[in-house]
Amino acid sequence: MNICVYCASSSAVDPAYFEAVRDLGAGIARRGHRIIYGAGNIGLMGALAIAARSNGGEVVGVIPQFLNDKDLADKQLTELRVTPDMRSRKQTMEELADAFIACPGGFGTLEEVFEIITLKQLGRHNKPCVLLNTRGYFDPLIAQIERGIAERFIKEKYRSLYHVADSTAGALDHIETYDTAELGDKWFTDADIPAEVGG
Ligand code: AMP
Repeated sequence: MNICVYCASSSAVDPAYFEAVRDLGAGIARRGHRIIYGAGNIGLMGALAIAARSNGGEVVGVIPQFLNDKDLADKQLTELRVTPDMRSRKQTMEELADAFIACPGGFGTLEEVFEIITLKQLGRHNKPCVLLNTRGYFDPLIAQIERGIAERFIKEKYRSLYHVADSTAGALDHIETYDTAELGDKWFTDADIPAEVGG
């Protein structure tokens, strides 16, 4: 499978985050899957690519022209795809991938994973999406989503849009056994809305 991994460009994070992405890169490679990622040679992105490669894995990088011009792409990729801009980069990553894993990251990572979950919610794809929750990094984000569900901004069944894993094995087992769920329409109908709420 082609597995898209979103992860941080930061190099300034706790060693546990590096260990987790190295383990993920190695695990993806050993199970015979290919990585699609943002092509970066720094931070968790760089560590992921090196670990996959040193375990015999293929790594495809997708980078926008302006970041490639800054020489930020890894030089030993199996394949490098250069796109005109950030939006077409995300689209290319989405099209190439059969599954998505978000590791801890900053704005870039959060934006990428929320876009892919949103597209799934709107029925534009039905591919597995995993949050690799190293050190409980995504716990506050999951709590925010739970608040959205409790206050009916998000349908309860959409918890199934993503899977939270705390290990490489948990993430890859989910992806390999993923059963495309029937997600239905995003929008609430009158039957979903309690009498005392709504505008
Ligand atoms: P962040 O989580 O803010 O560090 O952003 C990481 C995500 O944004 C990655 O998944 C990349 O797709 C993209 N990105 C951010 N910075 C870079 C960079 N220096 N090189 C390549 N991609 C980057």
